Amino acid sequence: MSKRIAADRAAVPALAAALAVGAVAPATAMTDQAADALAHDILKQLVEINTTDSVGNVTTAAEAMARRFHDAGFPAADVVVIGPDNPRKKNVVVRLHGSGQRKPILMIGHLDVVEARREDWTTDPFKLVEKDGYFYGRGSLDMKDGDAIMATTLLRMKQQGFRPDRDLILALTADEEGGCCNGVHWLIENHRELVNAEFVLNHDGFSITSDHGVPRAFELGATEKVYADFQLGTTNPGGHSSLPRPDNAIYELAHGLDRIEKYQFPFELNSVTRAYFERMAQLSSGERAADMRAILSTPPDPAAIARLSRDPTQGSLMHTTCVATRLAGGHANNALPQRAEAVINCRILPGHSQEEVRQELIGILDDPKITVRYIADDGTVHDKASDRRGYPPPPLVPEVRQPLEAVVAGMWPGLKVVPAMDAGASDSIYTEAVGLPSYGVSGIAIDADRIRMHGRDECVPIASFYEGNEFFYRYLKAITSP
Ligand SMILES: [Zn+2]
Repeated sequence: MSKRIAADRAAVPALAAALAVGAVAPATAMTDQAADALAHDILKQLVEINTTDSVGNVTTAAEAMARRFHDAGFPAADVVVIGPDNPRKKNVVVRLHGSGQRKPILMIGHLDVVEARREDWTTDPFKLVEKDGYFYGRGSLDMKDGDAIMATTLLRMKQQGFRPDRDLILALTADEEGGCCNGVHWLIENHRELVNAEFVLNHDGFSITSDHGVPRAFELGATEKVYADFQLGTTNPGGHSSLPRPDNAIYELAHGLDRIEKYQFPFELNSVTRAYFERMAQLSSGERAADMRAILSTPPDPAAIARLSRDPTQGSLMHTTCVATRLAGGHANNALPQRAEAVINCRILPGHSQEEVRQELIGILDDPKITVRYIADDGTVHDKASDRRGYPPPPLVPEVRQPLEAVVAGMWPGLKVVPAMDAGASDSIYTEAVGLPSYGVSGIAIDADRIRMHGRDECVPIASFYEGNEFFYRYLKAITSP
């Protein structure tokens, strides 16, 4: 903890003055302490409302947030709890009106969380537990922390009487992690008027990975990979295992998996990963820095690509990846297998479609006896995948980037803002799909070995949670002040 670059709230007078511009005479400014206490209360409330797909209820969380906005004086018309027919899957959309000089900004955060079993965890996953400098609880990092911070920021602005130069819309939504009825997708399809904006800020995840509390870089999420599952299958007439035949479903599948293991998808950079490696080369040293420069040259150096690709994080930024994640086959110990199946999970670089990767897998397998079928989000299996492509990275416009650099420099002197591609997937896929440039921005910092999103004992550093709260407030003010 002590090695953390402490974010100094008072020591940025120039920035504070800049931020004060555009504020209507503050009614009663919420102190930093009060804002932290409020963020803590909302985080606790959200963690303790189970919002898993199996037994949880996102509507309860959405209504709890709506009540806070009503109580803070937001007009009823600006706080909407809305969603599909499913009573457990409602979203809340709240709007803080600005002067309308520019188009609104939409902020998105998912309220649902991944399943968590009490017996797997050290603490109760649905209680916010404070221990060893961390808040523990399901969703503490993914992403009830961000939900609490975004909600706090709007409540804080409201209490201050701050009038942004554009509307601020916050959508807290259902079914990002799974489930029937994704909230962001549903809102765009059914109530576009509620979420229309110039661009989107997605607080999902964290922008700062730290090393023993020392932040390495501030990653501005600017694009992400596309997720796809494929089912590989082989069939055979089977028979008695005392009389093996030359063809065998399990062996055929195994040989195919072998070819997939050995295959590497082509090296490819886009504007975001290119900018990422340019920045990271400046922040790295030795062979690593040299390799990063060598992959940026024309033509890129294959030896440097090979060395960097061995690091899973760097490798995932340069290649589409496909990996076997499940395996099943046979039906009896003493019978020849009639069927063998594997699941291959792919993370596809922007610009390529799921169907394109399915065709590529068929080529790699080079065996007509192995079928390659697409597994949809709802688990159904299809002969073809979609032609939907990952969106190309949005431009890193100055109105997003410059205030970010200023606020980051004010809070974490020396920390560089680096454009980044997320190897995972988020709801930005839906906003990007309808042409809303979407950026991942969060002031949460966490050590690489503490990243437990979706896992057991998920936690967020307490100090970082409060710094992230202050960061988001400053950033949102900076991008909405004339
Ligand atoms: Zn998330």
